[in-house]
Amino acid sequence: MIVMKFGGTSVESQQAIARVTSIVQAAVDRRPIVVVSAMGKTTNKLLQAASEAAAGRRDQALAIVDELRAGHLLHGLALAGAAAADLDRYIRAHFDWLDELVKGLSVVGELSPRSMDAIASVGERLSSLVVTFAFQAAGIKTQHVDSRRVIITDDRFTQAQPILDETYRLLKYVVAPAAETAVVVMGGFIGSTPDGHTTTLGRGGSDYSAALVGAGVDAEEIQIWTDVDGMLTADPRIIPGGHRVKSISFAEAAEMAYFGAKVLHPATVIPAIEKNIPVLILNSRRPEVNGTRITAQAVPCRNPVKSISCKRDVTILNIHSTRMLMAHGFLRRIFEIFDRYQTSVDMVSTSEVSVSLTVDNCDHIDSIHAQLIEFAEVATESSQAIVCLVGENIRHTPGIAGRAFQVLKEKNIRMISQGASVLNLGFVIANDDVPDAVAALHQEFFSDLDPAVFD
Ligand code: ADP
Ligand code: ASP
Ligand code: MG
Repeated sequence: MIVMKFGGTSVESQQAIARVTSIVQAAVDRRPIVVVSAMGKTTNKLLQAASEAAAGRRDQALAIVDELRAGHLLHGLALAGAAAADLDRYIRAHFDWLDELVKGLSVVGELSPRSMDAIASVGERLSSLVVTFAFQAAGIKTQHVDSRRVIITDDRFTQAQPILDETYRLLKYVVAPAAETAVVVMGGFIGSTPDGHTTTLGRGGSDYSAALVGAGVDAEEIQIWTDVDGMLTADPRIIPGGHRVKSISFAEAAEMAYFGAKVLHPATVIPAIEKNIPVLILNSRRPEVNGTRITAQAVPCRNPVKSISCKRDVTILNIHSTRMLMAHGFLRRIFEIFDRYQTSVDMVSTSEVSVSLTVDNCDHIDSIHAQLIEFAEVATESSQAIVCLVGENIRHTPGIAGRAFQVLKEKNIRMISQGASVLNLGFVIANDDVPDAVAALHQEFFSDLDPAVFD
């Protein structure tokens, strides 16, 4: 049994879903369970409709819903063959319900995380139906499973965490047997609380869904199909022309994902590590490319750095307190405040008189700031970026930091951290310095490539 997850661009249109159909058809013997994202940019648009409605802009919200309805009908019905009338009914029923919800929100004028999830979930509920109909029309024996029946989560709406034992139990007893006799299709990203309220696993969460399904059914492989040839040596949106990394360890992939490589959701590797299931990143537009294989052990490689990842738009807080510094409980006091506001800290560095840290979620930054200044001076700097060199060999290779900082000698480096995991070397620079810095680092570390690992 294998899991095949197709991201938004891989199911964005009739043509894209036709490609997915032939990729899955060629793998039917491996008993695939297919996990799909919402079509194209649907999730963004659904959330936009929700916020327009909550702001009282009812007509704008309904216009977005209309546009989505038209897109789903256009691409979906073209794929459904003889069953087009059934799919038409399903799609219209979902959008009628959305219309009502959006009208309701525009009257109430507020948007709870729970309503956001109810609305955002429609993308994957529909894409999984469209893909099911497309497979059936192509003659693939297919069974649709509503992910909300099997991915059971806590009630942290918009960022829900799966309740693993219950989820794994349902995957094993509901999904695995179904996959013995048909290709199972499920929506990624969505789940439900034990009492039946729809939740989502956070943006980009379909990768995580796929990994949960893989772990739950003891899959032999988890395939993440996307719009690039695999994990690349740098984010292609920052510098084009990066090289494909053919193989990488779980630890390296997790570090890349955590520090901004959007190609994989950071939580994805956790279930895969638990069950030691290899994860492959593949390109649905170029299925003949071998992609990236992520496994427990890194393939020996003479390059110390595997990839440069980058997380933009982080904020630095410089916390300075001569009164409290070195005093017992100072750091605890700082971190308790971040904990209280459920704000995670990405990078920390301390010096004798100050603690600097970065956050990417600024929703509660004003409250955090107000509490910190009760015992410390605080300066914040926004529009910063964390750039990370990732590679297991960084720890064994002397001089990496020297080379990196030589390359960046013209840049103002705001913070430096050699991670406790010792497989990354990270630093913070201004957002605007990112393209130059990444290009220069890429030149320094990837001019001479080990063909065993890079393409
Ligand atoms: P999907 O919709 O398939 O989940 P995403 O947009 O979430 O796709 O992730 C794929 C994107 O990740 C790529 O198009 C690319 O722009 C981005 N990306 C960022 N860093 C990297 C990297 N190091 N290697 C490959 N892709 C990356
Ligand atoms: N559709 C969701 C999102 O856009 C989940 C995903 O694509 O992974 O965030
Ligand atoms: Mg993604």
